[in-house]
Amino acid sequence: MCGIIGIINHEEVIGDLLFGLSALQHRGQSSCGIVTFEKLFHLHKGLGNISQVFTQQEVAKLKGNIGLGHVRYATQGGDDLINAQPYSINYPFGIAMIHNGNILNFKELRDTLYKEHHILLETSNDLELILYTFASELRKKDLMNLSVDDIFDSVSETQQKVLGAYAAITMIANRGILAFNDPNGIRPLVFGKKETASGTTYAFASESSCFDYLEYEVISNLAPGEAIFIDTNNTVHRKICHSGKPAFCIFEYIYFAREDSIMHDKLVANERIAMGKILAKRVKAAGLKPDVIVDVPSSAYFFATSLADELGVQYIRGLAKNNHIGRSFIMSNQKDRETTAKLKLNPITSFLKGKKVALVDDSIVRGTTSKNLIGLLKRAGAKEIYFISAAPPIQHPCMYGIDMAISSELIGRNTVADIESYLEVDALIYQSIDDLKELYKNEHFCYACFDGVYPVANSKKYIDEIESERISSSKNGC
Ligand code: AMP
Repeated sequence: MCGIIGIINHEEVIGDLLFGLSALQHRGQSSCGIVTFEKLFHLHKGLGNISQVFTQQEVAKLKGNIGLGHVRYATQGGDDLINAQPYSINYPFGIAMIHNGNILNFKELRDTLYKEHHILLETSNDLELILYTFASELRKKDLMNLSVDDIFDSVSETQQKVLGAYAAITMIANRGILAFNDPNGIRPLVFGKKETASGTTYAFASESSCFDYLEYEVISNLAPGEAIFIDTNNTVHRKICHSGKPAFCIFEYIYFAREDSIMHDKLVANERIAMGKILAKRVKAAGLKPDVIVDVPSSAYFFATSLADELGVQYIRGLAKNNHIGRSFIMSNQKDRETTAKLKLNPITSFLKGKKVALVDDSIVRGTTSKNLIGLLKRAGAKEIYFISAAPPIQHPCMYGIDMAISSELIGRNTVADIESYLEVDALIYQSIDDLKELYKNEHFCYACFDGVYPVANSKKYIDEIESERISSSKNGC
């Protein structure tokens, strides 16, 4: 999972790029990078978060009025510099690219690029595959007279060849900026603009909250399979190049996106409120009567408060959060994750002691976080603990870039009774997948991590391959 931003401007773009990228930092903290273009590509990337990687000297070198920014999230290793984005190539034209997502058929693509185009990839990162596939298609065109149709045609070929979930932003030197996504539109990408004295500035970003800071307005989301190209005359060209069934990732609303982002016309906070409300049905059906409802900060806040409203039970912030420690999930190994999780949250004993506490989190993946939290509540003297997951049981690995571990690590594959006894809780309540689907009955989301129905054709065929690859080496997605 990553955060991406691309801007085409009439003045130096670096300020907006850095500012916008900072608003996407929650989408990845293992590495970040920016590339701008003025005569040449100017690139700087490094490991860590934005404030660690970008010094004033580095920023001063990033000249130009067009640029791309990326924050990367990696698990299970793979967080070395070679995987940091953006990447750029010199021929044809000079193309720089960033992406958010995960590719399924990476082995086939790698072989095809070598056998048919004599391209030997440098990394195991998915981005190189998209970049070179796109560049190989572009190279087939009349480069002296490259047209917008040629660019869209190359996107369409890329979308047909690259299977998976991806949102990508590309700069083509002296031609313009291009954004496109996969045919199912699984990963988010918004298109926005700002009117300035010197003309219209256009931008693409993973989340709309980033535009709030930059004072850009949202024009639209990219539709499944859509490409948008803005040429150097600032003319906008749009085309659905190769579309499939829409399958936007439901997990963006549950966990990943910021609560103040609007994705496909839905404010993330509102969706969490709606999901919290329907959770109440499950709590009532189990006959539970908590004294207080506590959220796991920060993503569970709206689930917990709306559940509390619906049940008529007091909500209380019973866990204090140290905001200066990164997301524990994105640590590469289990030991680091456990240590970080402990440092991150501290129970407020006087709110919890002797109480029946319903603890609400957005989801349970491996169960590490939940088990730690339950331990904290016990030490704080909670009388009974009910653990409530706003997401249904996660039983299938996400192959589309959310990176939810390998199958054998997913605790949701066990029975609720077994998970209760592993977590040592008095009750475990999961959101029901049927209730969730009922909530969105008129829409098409990807629920694959819950129901194993993968929207991209042939996904299952690639799952075993990807799982074994992930076990033996580092993660290659984003
Ligand atoms: P775990 O400890 O493996 O059960 O992870 C669950 C915790 O990680 C929850 O508290 C979530 O807030 C968070 N989480 C859930 N899914 C993801 C994901 N795909 N990436 C990062 N964090 C996640």
